[in-house]
Amino acid sequence: MEDSGYIELLDRALKQIPEIGVERSDFVVPDAEVLVQGNKTVLKNIVVIADRARRSIVEIAKYLTKELGVPISNDGQQLFINGRFSTDEINRRIKRYFDVYVICKECKKPDTHIESGGRGMSYIVCEACGARYGVKS
Ligand SMILES: [Zn+2]
Repeated sequence: MEDSGYIELLDRALKQIPEIGVERSDFVVPDAEVLVQGNKTVLKNIVVIADRARRSIVEIAKYLTKELGVPISNDGQQLFINGRFSTDEINRRIKRYFDVYVICKECKKPDTHIESGGRGMSYIVCEACGARYGVKS
């Protein structure tokens, strides 16, 4: 569901990220903004996180579903996680996602994309140094 509203939101999120003084090698995983509402946990800034990771919201939601073992839905702007999770817990999972699926293990840069290898495998392909290695998808 990539409608124009979503693109516009991405655009706005991009503009909120300060560019001055940000060195690619000092890449910082964005902190999760988490809000517990009743028995759900809302991840409010998934758009920013997905944008930094250069992955889709759906892809990150899929990962978190597996990690946390609960159903997750999204409306294109926020994730709605079944159950109550602390900000620390969510941050830990997000950081791990970046470590495993985003940041190149050779050059430590986040300029990667994922290629599907089939049979539950994916490949992380680094656009900075050309590394290509398998991860479980
Ligand atoms: Zn690399």
